[in-house]
Amino acid sequence: MINGQTRTCGIIGNPVKHTISPIIHNSLADRLGHNLVYVPFPVKEGDLEAAVKGAYALDILGMNVTVPYKSEVIKHLAEVDELAAGIGAVNTLVRTDGGYKGYNTDMSGLWRAMSGEGIRIEGEEIILIGAGGAARAVAYLCAKQGAGKVYLLNRTLEKAKLIADEVNGSFGRTVIVPMLLSDYTELPDRKFLAIQATSVGLEPHDDEVIIEDEAFYQKIHTGYDLIYKPFNTRFMKLVRAAGGQAYNGLKMLIYQGIDAYELWNDVKLNAEDVEFVYDRIKEEMGLQA
Ligand code: NAP
Repeated sequence: MINGQTRTCGIIGNPVKHTISPIIHNSLADRLGHNLVYVPFPVKEGDLEAAVKGAYALDILGMNVTVPYKSEVIKHLAEVDELAAGIGAVNTLVRTDGGYKGYNTDMSGLWRAMSGEGIRIEGEEIILIGAGGAARAVAYLCAKQGAGKVYLLNRTLEKAKLIADEVNGSFGRTVIVPMLLSDYTELPDRKFLAIQATSVGLEPHDDEVIIEDEAFYQKIHTGYDLIYKPFNTRFMKLVRAAGGQAYNGLKMLIYQGIDAYELWNDVKLNAEDVEFVYDRIKEEMGLQA
């Protein structure tokens, strides 16, 4: 029940109407008996600073930040965690004494989701497809976790080059190798972990896939699609048809929420809590295996 002790968390962005984060956090609070509510806060262009200051003044415990404010919010924070600072994007604000501290649980979430499936990054040769906001963060994460090489394939080569320059510069080694998407046939002849971070294949375009050629999928031992709608993307089906393991991005989405919830409430959730949220979200989104 909402009463005088109820703590508030929320999400700021524009738009926030379609967010599933309230379901993640409110069902967790319910399950764990925490007196907490989580609500969407649409923030108009130009109002971000006022929103962050206002949230702090109103004693809001924590916030998620979504498009288009993940980078812009940084200048309004008291502190930024090292991973988020390296990526240059924050999606979670945690209340501290002097203001909010920013974290990037999109990437700590992906890392947790992958580790949970037994997927390794350290020392691996990885194909990363895409050079948008998500791919940029994944490239940084791979470098930080000690990937051997990341072949970064994108339709627009310039964008892949920019990410490579930035990430290689930050880590002082050539880990990211930018490539034109259509040059995938020039990849070394071996098996890779492949992370699909473009928007190609996203519902309602379920029939689309970033690379059609079946021969490409022979090079993949594990395929990780950041898309989770549809639940089985065409990319995943092609990986499986070629004998590889394939995963969608739903666990990543769940773990970005779990990580944020843990930071706000200073708790550690167990595997049953994670499964509970996973099932709840699948049901809410009408996703089926
Ligand atoms: P974004 O910044 O808009 O980047 C889109 C990427 O897709 C770019 O690399 C773009 O290539 C490529 N692309 C789009 N249409 C293409 C086409 N027709 N042919 C070839 N390449 C195409 O998007 P984002 O924010 O990085 O998100 C990427 C995906 O990750 C989305 O599907 C999103 O749903 C998913 N995602 C999932 C989670 C999760 O929690 N599971 C979190 C974040 C994102 P160009 O550079 O050439 O335009």
